[in-house]
Amino acid sequence: MLSDDSSIPFLNNENILVASRLLDQISTEKIRLQLDRMSTTTACGIDGITVIMLRHLLDTTFTHHLYQLYRACLNKGQTPRRWNHALVFPLCKDKKKPYTAINSRPISLVCLFRKLFESLILPIVASSGDMRYSGIQAGFRSGYSTLTNVLTLHHQIEADAGTHIVFLDLVSAFDKVDWIHLRAKLQQQGMNLLVLHIIYQLMYRDMTYSIIVNRCESPIQSRNCGLLQGSPLSPILFNRFINCLLQTLNLQSPASFPSALFFADDGVLISPTFSKAQALLNQASHWADKHGMSFNIPKCGYLLTHNASKSALPPVLILNNQPIPFVDSYRYLGVMFSPTGIDFLAQGNLLSLRVENLLNAMRWYSNTWCPRIRFNLFKTFILPSLEYSIPLIYANFLRNRKSKSWIEINNTYTNCLTWIAGGNAHRPHITSHLLGLLPFRDRAQQLFTRFYLHLMAMDLLNPLRCILDRHCWYPKSNHHMRVNNSNPLLFQFLNPPPAFASHLSNLEETPISLLRDKILHELSLQKFNQIHSTIGPHSAKLLQVSMVSDRVAGSDFDVVLTAPAKDQARFLGWRRGIFGWGRKCLCGDRFDRGHTTCMPYPDPGLTEEQLFIYNLDRRLLDSTTKYTIMDFLLNQRLWNQARNILDSWTLTMSTLQKAKSSDH
Ligand SMILES: [Zn+2]
Repeated sequence: MLSDDSSIPFLNNENILVASRLLDQISTEKIRLQLDRMSTTTACGIDGITVIMLRHLLDTTFTHHLYQLYRACLNKGQTPRRWNHALVFPLCKDKKKPYTAINSRPISLVCLFRKLFESLILPIVASSGDMRYSGIQAGFRSGYSTLTNVLTLHHQIEADAGTHIVFLDLVSAFDKVDWIHLRAKLQQQGMNLLVLHIIYQLMYRDMTYSIIVNRCESPIQSRNCGLLQGSPLSPILFNRFINCLLQTLNLQSPASFPSALFFADDGVLISPTFSKAQALLNQASHWADKHGMSFNIPKCGYLLTHNASKSALPPVLILNNQPIPFVDSYRYLGVMFSPTGIDFLAQGNLLSLRVENLLNAMRWYSNTWCPRIRFNLFKTFILPSLEYSIPLIYANFLRNRKSKSWIEINNTYTNCLTWIAGGNAHRPHITSHLLGLLPFRDRAQQLFTRFYLHLMAMDLLNPLRCILDRHCWYPKSNHHMRVNNSNPLLFQFLNPPPAFASHLSNLEETPISLLRDKILHELSLQKFNQIHSTIGPHSAKLLQVSMVSDRVAGSDFDVVLTAPAKDQARFLGWRRGIFGWGRKCLCGDRFDRGHTTCMPYPDPGLTEEQLFIYNLDRRLLDSTTKYTIMDFLLNQRLWNQARNILDSWTLTMSTLQKAKSSDH
């Protein structure tokens, strides 16, 4: 337990309260806004209260009561003790190994009211005092991302700016942050006393937790160290805590040649020489000793790049008297690195494998799920896994159209579409149109364009921005650069992608937020047009029959995904042109949609008005398009009639087949 003198003496002082600017952050309006912004999937705490529940109370006096609670916290310099109790779920890391403490990743659930309060005061906690974040910290900051770090590191390796790369691994970094050290840092940074006090209240005063194992809750335990996991303030406090290390490491480095890159505690040292690399490590080790932190040396990695001299035995780098293991590949921020930079093939395999694993985990159950459910799972869980790092993979594809990583991911995307639609037929082009998804290459191009917007909005201190500026990229120079396929990957980012074409003349004057709105709007328009247009002779006829005007608003998928669950796969099969595949028609030929008139027709039971619309539709369409009554029924969502006809046709076909086999 912490002794009392480790807390901050709180002077109930009006001046400190005003100076903290905390009061400005709390209002009923801001509470409403924050609740609207929070994801509905935010985990709830021990009380089981969720964001969705609170959203229903937005128009009641509830927000006012919450406002009063939060104001009281600031006035008293105290937060409810209940907020400091967390439920810890140790999730199994590797299901193939025994479920032990080492093989688990703890997830902490904390009270939602606390999270909301923290989110409100977060801007103040981030900025209070004289705080200058190091430009090499990308974690949880706007104008930075994991991918800007990854691209920077790749470029330093490819352009031979760094030949000695050391990946660092801090032992449970957030859990080791000790209050005495953190407080000293925050005080040095001139943090307002009340803000400091509130942090103590939220993070270090009477912290308790219980662990849930085998559905049983352990007795309450106390904890006295570490930033609370799952708390919105923890990442920002960690950034402030580690900031001095980053500034030391990068002290003499030009902005476009950073000596290190960090994303929260995930750090990498970049150095042109062995001796500099060792010097950086000594600084890191000195900092760790002084701040109660330690490195997990077996998990660190020393990567010598392709340009490093390999003539003699490579020298050994030492951290805390232990040699750092040599590595040929290392996963940094979810991206595979090799001595030549990003290992695209390994990265493509990694993403594909992850998606295949997700699909396999679901396949067992998914046979009974309708396409709509599989579609939703795809968009929520699978697509984000597949698309991480796609802007960089796409940039590499632009250099090398035959890159294997590209083909691999493209195939995985197609497999996902087949999984959603069911059956064995591929037809990715038609299927993606019906599902309201872009073909993979178009999707990747859109992600690349979005990433470009992100690059344009980079922080002035982001090393990647400084590197691109040094190369006179278009946003700085207003000049197109000649780029060829043998240039470094970074060169693919020197010129804006085609979507920017109509904005280039006034790129300088347009504020980035406005440009962003415009481009994003154009991208969604482009997607709309692409999905609703019919490209290619085969898909054209098939796609015209799904009345694009009847598509489901917002999602853009075909209406059949709103059909009753049991019919969806069959209706979708009809749309894709695979209903009755390989079966014979009554006329003796193979069945396809052109043969619907040969089949016996149960009365679809259309009203006169419906019949009128059907004939009108037919007249509007190209005369060669086989717009059958079946398509009309689906467009009109007349599910019962559509089902009856398909049932009847299936019966006719199987009777034919039986008759044929009994003939033999
Ligand atoms: Zn026929």
